[in-house]
Amino acid sequence: MLIHEYQAKQKLQEYNISVPKSYLITRDDEIISVLRKIDTPIGVVKAQVHAGGRGKAGGVVVVESLLDGITAVRRLLGSKLVTNQTGAEGKPIDAVFVEEGVQIEQEFYVAFTINRSSQCVSLLVSAAGGTDIESKEHASSIHQYDIDPQIGMRDFVPIRVCQDLMLARKDWPAWISMLQNLYRCFKENDALLIEINPFIHSKDGRWIALDAKMDFDDNALFRHEDLVLLQDDRQQTESELLAAHYGLSYVSLDGTIGCLVNGAGLAMATMDAIKEAGGEPANFLDVGGSATTISVANGLDILYHDSRVEGVFINVFGGIVRCDIVAEGIIRALQKQNRQLPMVIRLEGNMKEEAIEALRAFSPNLDFVDSLDTGAALIVQRINERKMA
Ligand code: GDP
Ligand code: MN
Repeated sequence: MLIHEYQAKQKLQEYNISVPKSYLITRDDEIISVLRKIDTPIGVVKAQVHAGGRGKAGGVVVVESLLDGITAVRRLLGSKLVTNQTGAEGKPIDAVFVEEGVQIEQEFYVAFTINRSSQCVSLLVSAAGGTDIESKEHASSIHQYDIDPQIGMRDFVPIRVCQDLMLARKDWPAWISMLQNLYRCFKENDALLIEINPFIHSKDGRWIALDAKMDFDDNALFRHEDLVLLQDDRQQTESELLAAHYGLSYVSLDGTIGCLVNGAGLAMATMDAIKEAGGEPANFLDVGGSATTISVANGLDILYHDSRVEGVFINVFGGIVRCDIVAEGIIRALQKQNRQLPMVIRLEGNMKEEAIEALRAFSPNLDFVDSLDTGAALIVQRINERKMA
């Protein structure tokens, strides 16, 4: 679960990490009164969306006057921000954060994240922080340290960080306590990612977190009631919200072929096969190893609700799964209005013949295939035929 920058900075403060003085604006009539509270020569106006890359997309504006501030907030509030991380639709800006500007001497990058291959928490730091950290030239500047979560962060790790970043001796205490506090924040909140980019050294010698991104483990939210309150549904797509409500595993992608599959591995293989056939999947949707009538019908509802979907590929491979139950779900979904898109179905398992018979009887327009590759190629072909027609 992602939270907004302003919420993440609140958390950082709870862990004694300095952030700039700031205010949140959510309504037009607050703009002037809030901006007038900023009494530094520069202010920073920041769109609050669940995505990074805002700086490069015009979502972070450094302003030098009240008028510039008003103009920037007016432009952002209520609009949508498209960054390299939001997808083409963008994310709604329902809140704008304004901060007292800081004179930056140097920008650093600091992040704790989960490293699945080493089964550790990884600490990443770089002396080349800022909006270009993702560019290739900076990849070599990143230092990585694995921390065994059973043991915790040992004292020598922050010291190594200070050495590797070649920090002046006087700055070590600030960094050591920041890293210890940040690790504690990561651990105590079951985070998947905490990223401060940039963590800066200001011209007047302070260490401040100018940006903060936090992502928490959904599976641990049951023990963090305070975090659940920070959830902002408006930053998710309707399809994602529906899927979460139905308990389906769903990820929205950029393509046009809706996929409904049972099992995560098969879902990934299906997406690969679609790409191989020259198509682009619109989503990853796993209705679960034990697909039921309801889960199939709900899953299809989500696909048909997505206006980008031009065709549907159903790939249910069970062995144990009763195909007639799956077929019932498909029929239930197809009985609703406006469900004419091309559909290719691969069913494998118990009661397969009965299922296909029922589906054929329901609609003559469905295509049935026996293999994944044939199915992927056929749905691409059907979509193209429909476009030509
Ligand atoms: P992101 O692009 O979504 O990661 O947004 P950030 O919050 O990191 O802001 C982008 C960039 O704006 C930062 O890397 C800084 O260079 C700059 N910036 C943010 N706050 C300030 C500030 O108070 N003063 C100055 N001079 N620059 C800032
Ligand atoms: Mn940033």
